[in-house]
Amino acid sequence: MIYDAIIVGGGPAGSTCARVLARGGARVAILDRAQFPRVKLCGGWISAPIWDALELAPRDYPGGLWEWRTCHVSYGGEERAIPSHGWFIRRFELDDFLLRRSGAELHLGTAVQEVAREPGDDGHWTVAGLRARHLVGAGGTHCPVARVLAPKRPSGPVGVQEHEFAADPAAIAATRAGRDGEPELLLHEDLRGYSWNVPKTDWLNVGSGTVEPHEVRAAWQRARQYFTEAGHVPPEAAAALDAVKGHAYYLFDPAHVDGAVRGNALLCGDSLGLAQPLTAEGILPAVLSGRLAGEAILAGAPESYPGRLRAHPVMADYARVFRAREAAALLRGPSTSTVAPRSRLARRAVARGFAWMFSGARLPAPRLVDAGLALAEWWAARQRVRVSAS
Ligand SMILES: Cc1cc2nc3c(=O)[nH]c(=O)nc-3n(C[C@H](O)[C@H](O)[C@H](O)COP(=O)(O)OP(=O)(O)OC[C@H]3O[C@@H](n4cnc5c(N)ncnc54)[C@H](O)[C@@H]3O)c2cc1C
Repeated sequence: MIYDAIIVGGGPAGSTCARVLARGGARVAILDRAQFPRVKLCGGWISAPIWDALELAPRDYPGGLWEWRTCHVSYGGEERAIPSHGWFIRRFELDDFLLRRSGAELHLGTAVQEVAREPGDDGHWTVAGLRARHLVGAGGTHCPVARVLAPKRPSGPVGVQEHEFAADPAAIAATRAGRDGEPELLLHEDLRGYSWNVPKTDWLNVGSGTVEPHEVRAAWQRARQYFTEAGHVPPEAAAALDAVKGHAYYLFDPAHVDGAVRGNALLCGDSLGLAQPLTAEGILPAVLSGRLAGEAILAGAPESYPGRLRAHPVMADYARVFRAREAAALLRGPSTSTVAPRSRLARRAVARGFAWMFSGARLPAPRLVDAGLALAEWWAARQRVRVSAS
């Protein structure tokens, strides 16, 4: 038997792609090395656009769901409660739910070691003894399909450490920064990462992420000390933080999108590297890319997948944020400042801007933003020419 698509990885990217394909009448198999529900290191933060992408209303989601409207941001020694909006879920519940409703044939406990393609541009793929017309890599950062297909990435991954654990709900309620589900974010002084402490009734999720994976351990130690000394982790639960684990994944880069498809094989989610360039939100782009990959296959035009990614409003915003980040880095030069700005106004702007991004809000006036970015890029290039000439 020949499947229309084999999907390696049953996380949000793989299960969403499978659902789109199965609903379109395709015969789909998902292969995942894990048995579900499985643990996936994740804060479990999701932002508003995900509901449309999942075609699901929050009230219809059967797992634990924490909606929040205030974000507690600490930066430069100041704490602010900032209006913002989002949700938290538990990943082992969300991923299991999405996988079970995908309609795909599930091959769980199947670790894919290698993938092979028959000769010819649209030769069939063979994976773990199954044959298919299309292959979708959705196996996360170390996806075996990406190992074969993805071009070299221009920059390295971000590093993240995290632990989610059960604790006494009364003790959590007594120590959290705000209401149940409201995140506490600790922005690192140098803005090269942030840490979080999220109460989910009888669970706590505490973690840190940094631009450079080698910086994450030190950042985690500082964050742990901060949350503990601020009294925001119940003392009896503090030892549980020893069990923190780490992982790395890639932020969005336009160059990643160029490598999203090769012939009849497509990459989505973390296997491609699509997380939001500043906040590192990864579930939303995983779901979106899974959808778009499935739609491209159903349309009989897998080669249209990168174009569909670029044209999607959320991914177009990611491209703008990426450009802004690059232009800012050029303008700032090789800054080694490790402290927050001295100006209170600047610290406030950073904290508010971050809370706003954390809500997954779309960039306003895209054309104006594009014009501003073009100007910033031009100016940054000019400055660079001046520096190299002097
Ligand atoms: C500590 C941490 C915290 C995070 N917090 C957040 C957050 O709060 N919000 C957010 O939006 N994003 C967060 N992210 C990012 C987010 O978790 C990912 O971007 C997202 O899970 C990507 O989904 P995916 O479907 O591409 O991959 P995954 O969810 O990683 O799924 C990949 C699947 O492939 C399977 N697989 C891997 N290799 C093989 C193989 N060889 N054979 C068969 N199966 C295989 C795995 O078992 C897994 O089930 C966080 C990441 C980390 C590391």
